[in-house]
Amino acid sequence: MNNLDKFNRLVDALGELPTIGKKSATRLAYFMVMNDSYAGLKIAHAIEDAFGSLKKCTQCGGMSEDELCSICSDERRDDTLLCIVENAKDILLLEENGLFDGKYFVLESLEEENVNHLVKIAKKGIHEVLFAITPSIANDALILYIEDKLSDFDISFTKIAQGVPTGVSLENIDLLSLTRALEDKVRV
Ligand SMILES: [Zn+2]
Repeated sequence: MNNLDKFNRLVDALGELPTIGKKSATRLAYFMVMNDSYAGLKIAHAIEDAFGSLKKCTQCGGMSEDELCSICSDERRDDTLLCIVENAKDILLLEENGLFDGKYFVLESLEEENVNHLVKIAKKGIHEVLFAITPSIANDALILYIEDKLSDFDISFTKIAQGVPTGVSLENIDLLSLTRALEDKVRV
């Protein structure tokens, strides 16, 4: 029998990626090592590079290659407007339509440290907090909780509206719907 342990390990690793099944994993692995090994090596280097240089922005928690991400350090952006997202990945989605020109905050959990960090940022003069999070009962409770934590400040609270169905995460929403959702934000 052929010894393809290393190839199979690559197939298994690829198969663990989101949306990639066993069949696609085999096809991709074959392409990278047999059809176009240059592409394969380029991907391997790119992954290693990204791993080595990517970190969390110390301000917003988004992806960054520096202490502060390019959004947090961009003085042209409105820092009285703060958009709360669930994942750093959502920032990339929202930036794609270029409608939002405020700052972001990744609320990964409601742990004290995370919430305190948010309160500290809000203190610096935030006038509006926009929740760009998946509509669900749990997240409605989360919104109320955060509103309560920020109730000492003069902040209006909004959330993205139509086009985002209940329980569907932002990454599964097309750009047009996401754009509408941002345009039609509602008060909470
Ligand atoms: Zn940042």
